[in-house]
Amino acid sequence: MICVSIGRTRHKMVVLEHRALAERGAELVELRIDWLSRMPDFSRLLADRPTPCIVTCRRKSDRGRWRGTEDQRLALLRSAIVSGVEYVDLEDDVAGQSPRYGETKRIVSHHNFDETPQDLEAIHENLCGYDPDIVKLVTMANSPSDIVRMLQLVDQAEVPTIGFCMGELGVVSRMLCGKYGSPFTYATVSTEREMGPGQLSFDIMRHIYRYDEINADTQVYGVLGDPISHSLSPLVHNTAFRNQGINAVYFPFRVPRDTLPKTLEAYRWLDVQGYSVTIPHKEAALEQASRATDAAIAIGAANTLYQEADGSWTATNTDYEAAMASIRLGLEQHSPGNSDLSGRKVLMLGAGGVARAVGLGLTRADTGLTISNRNSERARELAEELGCKHIKWKNRGTGFYDIVVNCTPLGMHPEVDETPFPVNSLREGMLVFDTVYNPETTLLLKQAQERNCTTVSGIEMFVRQAAVQYELFTGRPAPLAEMRDAIREGISPIRPY
Ligand code: NAP
Repeated sequence: MICVSIGRTRHKMVVLEHRALAERGAELVELRIDWLSRMPDFSRLLADRPTPCIVTCRRKSDRGRWRGTEDQRLALLRSAIVSGVEYVDLEDDVAGQSPRYGETKRIVSHHNFDETPQDLEAIHENLCGYDPDIVKLVTMANSPSDIVRMLQLVDQAEVPTIGFCMGELGVVSRMLCGKYGSPFTYATVSTEREMGPGQLSFDIMRHIYRYDEINADTQVYGVLGDPISHSLSPLVHNTAFRNQGINAVYFPFRVPRDTLPKTLEAYRWLDVQGYSVTIPHKEAALEQASRATDAAIAIGAANTLYQEADGSWTATNTDYEAAMASIRLGLEQHSPGNSDLSGRKVLMLGAGGVARAVGLGLTRADTGLTISNRNSERARELAEELGCKHIKWKNRGTGFYDIVVNCTPLGMHPEVDETPFPVNSLREGMLVFDTVYNPETTLLLKQAQERNCTTVSGIEMFVRQAAVQYELFTGRPAPLAEMRDAIREGISPIRPY
């Protein structure tokens, strides 16, 4: 169950928001009475309440907004209990002063906004000494092992325990606590109204991560990277799991640079079955794997780690396969039955990570490849490695090519007015493939369409690299159309969540 925290300054707004949340499917709400600008009136807040409630009143020292005295605060909490509210949240230092009364259940809580202390078990044991119905233990995650220690505690607790970590590193624990037995977790009303570091909105928890369906048998997957909070991969993979009724969930795991080995080690306990890997860990992922596919070795980078039956990791690079499939799709559209790449003249713009994968595929397919990059030294190095030609960036519009592939970020949101290729060099009949996927129709693709070129967007590559991962993870064919729709939804300016 997800408990949604309501923090509003006016009673009227609390009541209205509570009703609206119940209509949206909320089953439990936390009334943060410390946010109210006037003295809380429980006869208004709790009358005809559409769901059970938790009454919480946080002091400034607990990052709350309570401005009255401590005596007033304790009196308020007691009056909430007398009003018959379903739950009251009592911090560990005051829980002993508010004895059990009536039917109200006691959540005895402890927050640490700086760290996840080493003596977590001792803190938990202390909380259990204050006659709790539920223990709530929330700490700041500074390392992946903090999350694991917290979830291990939830898993082993004999008293029902809500335990998760705050901060960007801790986001996954807010959802994974459900797998290990937390009676519920906390969410915000909306993305803009975060009340604790790393909190997710009710809709995201419910519709993207399907928190209420997470249980002990749920398989865990995720994407490793930094930054990671804007990754579309969780939306795409979770959509596919939902579509196929698979009991699995896919999380964004923020992993700071140089911490991949210790993260993989720490998360072994979470039994993660497969990872997507993004910047800055693609090279390190290859080093961490026991085995690697020929493509990943040749590219020198992996975007996927999947688990073998013996628990070891195999690294692969699904960008390579996805880019080639996207280009072949374009050729097929252009002249059905003739998607053979050999002998085609290709200009590839860029010499970074994606260009390495695309370039390898293009040379292996026997195209006549030419690389052009802003930094011509990098173009020369990659061309030497792949055994192909390179030209200066300023000359990129001069040759005659059958296919142009953009592997630079030029044209990507928000710089949507940029393009990597001169419009006058676009010729009718060319195939133009842009790896940029946000927006779907970049300026390059728009200009190419206007000149009667065949175009393929980066969405095709993105969905295909995710689909290959999904198939490696689950052993099932990926629901390509639904995954593509999810990407479009994810880049839409009017996202539903
Ligand atoms: P990267 O390793 O950082 O390489 C970036 C490349 O773009 C380099 O060649 C760089 O040239 C060039 N570049 C950057 N800014 C430029 C500018 N202002 N003008 C000219 N060239 C510029 O990045 P990457 O991982 O290869 O990703 C490149 C792009 O691929 C991303 O931006 C993304 O849109 C796209 N991508 C698509 C997918 C997909 O599935 N569709 C997946 C991943 C990435 P220098 O060497 O001169 O710096």
